[in-house]
Amino acid sequence: MTLVAAVFGGSQGIGRAVASRFIRSGFSVAILSRNNSKREEAITELEKENAYSVGIKGSQCDVTDEKIVQESLKLVEETLGPLRVVVNCAGINLDRLLVQTVPEDINSIINVNLIGSIITSKIAARLMLKRKCGNIVNIGSIVGMKGNRGQAVYAASKAGLVGLTKSLAQEIGSRGVRVNLVVPGIIQTGMTENMDIEQVKNQVPLSRIGAPEDVAEGVFFLATSPFITGEVLIIDGGLHLNR
Ligand code: NAP
Repeated sequence: MTLVAAVFGGSQGIGRAVASRFIRSGFSVAILSRNNSKREEAITELEKENAYSVGIKGSQCDVTDEKIVQESLKLVEETLGPLRVVVNCAGINLDRLLVQTVPEDINSIINVNLIGSIITSKIAARLMLKRKCGNIVNIGSIVGMKGNRGQAVYAASKAGLVGLTKSLAQEIGSRGVRVNLVVPGIIQTGMTENMDIEQVKNQVPLSRIGAPEDVAEGVFFLATSPFITGEVLIIDGGLHLNR
């Protein structure tokens, strides 16, 4: 039987690399995101890259809407089979000093990054608990551990995922479902395209910023390691070692 993974935010950046990593290992993969054309584009590329992939399915889904998340994962199970892995890569960022941040932006960052992960984890856990099998990987950020000037709301949304992951791991571990958190540093995606990469590189002991594939490798490791739960895996080239 083919194993099934669903990747929220799988159309771009880190999520797209995560989808590719699972497909290369023989998983059927569902890609869930809001923008239809970007998702279709990603699926076409993934099908070309992974000639032997068993199944790639796309579905429109906003992680802030519990009913849509529930319907999307139900559809994934009906078309691809029981979910073994759910990865939540959906996220947004806005760099702004807290005193200049308007309530609408605060709400949307918290809604997508924190409440979105709470919703997707809840729906995924319910499905996995029925079979006593499966695991969830959330995506935090090194900013959620260290903080960063201009990213107070984003940092708060990502710090919340540490508590979510460690609590849920304790709630559902005895019934065979694992939950882990990957914490990326600075990764080259659309989210970081306006950063001064040369300046950032100097702060990273490994002297480069990360590729989405670096994060995907860590996600795959946690998803396929049967005795790891409640873990926080930092993938940042050593950036967190700098005070
Ligand atoms: P990205 O390239 O901008 O991709 C973000 C993905 O999230 C897209 O597929 C986007 O698709 C989806 N998305 C956004 N809002 C959504 C929503 N409400 N519902 C469903 N999907 C949604 O960003 P990335 O850099 O790959 O980031 C992926 C994750 O890693 C995020 O959680 C981010 O915070 C985290 N992260 C990134 C970095 C970095 O340096 N890049 C570092 C640490 C952590 P649609 O817009 O079509 O929905």
